[in-house]
Amino acid sequence: MTAVTVLPAEAATFDVAVDVVIVGGGGCGLTAAIAAQQGGAASLVIERDATPSGSTGMSTGLIPGAGSQLQSAAGVADSAQLFARDVLAKAKQQTDADIVRELAEASGETIDWLVAAGVQLSLVDSFLYPGHTVHRMHGTKNRTGSELMGALSDALTRVDGDVLTEATVTSLFADADGRVAGVCCERPDGSTETVGCQALILACCGFGGNAQMVREHMPEIADAEYYGHPGNRGDALIWAHELGAAIDDLGAYQGHGGLAAGRGVPILWPVIMEGGVQVNVHGQRFSNESRGYSEQAVDVVAQPDHVAWTIFDARLDALMREFDDYRDALAANAIRSSDTIVGLASELGIDANGLMETLDEVSQAMRSGSVDRFGRVFADRPPLTAPFFGVKVTGALFHTQGGLRVDGVGRVQRPDGTAFPNLFAGGGAARGISGPSSWGYLAGNGLLTATTLGRLAGQTAAALVRP
Ligand SMILES: Cc1cc2nc3c(=O)[nH]c(=O)nc-3n(C[C@H](O)[C@H](O)[C@H](O)COP(=O)(O)OP(=O)(O)OC[C@H]3O[C@@H](n4cnc5c(N)ncnc54)[C@H](O)[C@@H]3O)c2cc1C
Repeated sequence: MTAVTVLPAEAATFDVAVDVVIVGGGGCGLTAAIAAQQGGAASLVIERDATPSGSTGMSTGLIPGAGSQLQSAAGVADSAQLFARDVLAKAKQQTDADIVRELAEASGETIDWLVAAGVQLSLVDSFLYPGHTVHRMHGTKNRTGSELMGALSDALTRVDGDVLTEATVTSLFADADGRVAGVCCERPDGSTETVGCQALILACCGFGGNAQMVREHMPEIADAEYYGHPGNRGDALIWAHELGAAIDDLGAYQGHGGLAAGRGVPILWPVIMEGGVQVNVHGQRFSNESRGYSEQAVDVVAQPDHVAWTIFDARLDALMREFDDYRDALAANAIRSSDTIVGLASELGIDANGLMETLDEVSQAMRSGSVDRFGRVFADRPPLTAPFFGVKVTGALFHTQGGLRVDGVGRVQRPDGTAFPNLFAGGGAARGISGPSSWGYLAGNGLLTATTLGRLAGQTAAALVRP
């Protein structure tokens, strides 16, 4: 495989040329392409895989949006200010407040725009993710990223957008001012093609698929399973570094403390937020699970054999059946149940006495509503009752959140704050809004930056090349 690099524009000749090239055909890339096409630009998405999927296709596909028409129809009172406050609180204010505000302001419009483009979404109102004050997640019918990707692909087809698949972009061609003239991509047979452009959007996500970079920038999660797209190898960061672009928060990531061990299926966090708990092999809890699933990944990885068990009951089993992932976990026989705590402990292979003591303590905390010894409050959650359920999980890295510093419409910035003339980034390629580590990730931050920055970068790039 050819090394990823930036080459001088002056030396380049192009096999074909389009207005806007988009590197990466995940959620950000397809969204950007739809927006660019709608703006009158001829775009081309270049994607390394045979079928566009990316981490978006592996995700739950839930997109946050404040002030969407779907929220209004459901009577949910939300605002960009409230949303921005939630994002900043989760990130402990350690992110760019201006970008957060701009993204929050544009988020509801992105949902309306996606719906208008034919992406059928509905408001998720059955549970609240940690840190969100109101219901503002929007998803496709079965709450899957593959369904979202299918809908985005269909929407792109309707606006005559093109996707070149099985083409890995290896080089950018740029002049001394950082103006990008085009890209070179490599085909599976080793042949290369060059594509000229007037604007370039980097939508090739972060570096979760690059084990060396993960170990360098986030060593505490390096031994965990990577459950994102393996083709996201940090190419945008390598180009950014060579171009002299500003790069921030390389230690930031979305982890997950609930990947069904050995099954590769995420057990989503509603099971925790609505009253489930996690224990280790001794049947003991080890943290406040409700802080968030991202930071919980680190705590799970720190347990014996890097595993934990999520414990819940029939009420939560019923709630979770809304999600495709959970139904997959059921089909994979990952979910175990028993009429008694001792029976469940035996099914799961964990300490029965420890589990009984733990569930007793949890029941008391649920009844009293007081803060437990880990700092968790089980407000309004009924005690777990028989039959009991459990699933063995491990901690995982879902995707990285550090990346190219961009402004509110995805224009890539230099360290001095000036923008590159025609270079944009969005989604996992751009710096996220989750602070410097794992704990700042608010559910939805990933697809917020993928779809909203994707839309705005596509619209802005189109306006740049077709004024
Ligand atoms: C299990 C799971 C669940 C999640 N659930 C949610 C959720 O519900 N809500 C949410 O907001 N976020 C969620 N996320 C995070 C979310 O999936 C990501 O933030 C989002 O998908 C990033 O979108 P993207 O377009 O930037 O990257 P991707 O969707 O990963 O797309 C990047 C694409 O670029 C391609 N590519 C990479 N390098 C090159 C190259 N050099 N040349 C050509 N192509 C290249 C890749 O093949 C890939 O297709 C979840 C993540 C996981 C793993």
